[in-house]
Amino acid sequence: MSELIATGAGDAYHLTEECWGLRAGQSGGEAQGYTLHGTVRFATHGQAEAAGFRPCGICFPGGGTPQRP
Ligand SMILES: [Zn+2]
Repeated sequence: MSELIATGAGDAYHLTEECWGLRAGQSGGEAQGYTLHGTVRFATHGQAEAAGFRPCGICFPGGGTPQRP
């Protein structure tokens, strides 16, 4: 399993849609329930970061990419 999830509402990518950080970023004007607007999926960290996203600190406590300086 290497699917990563990002949304247009934030600048981070996540390991799972269940991440509360992802949900928090979605809860702008959504009063009832949460809706994933503009969900983007990536197969690798490299693809996600190339698209301008950073690793979610909740899903990736270590920072995500091991080659980060
Ligand atoms: Zn997350």
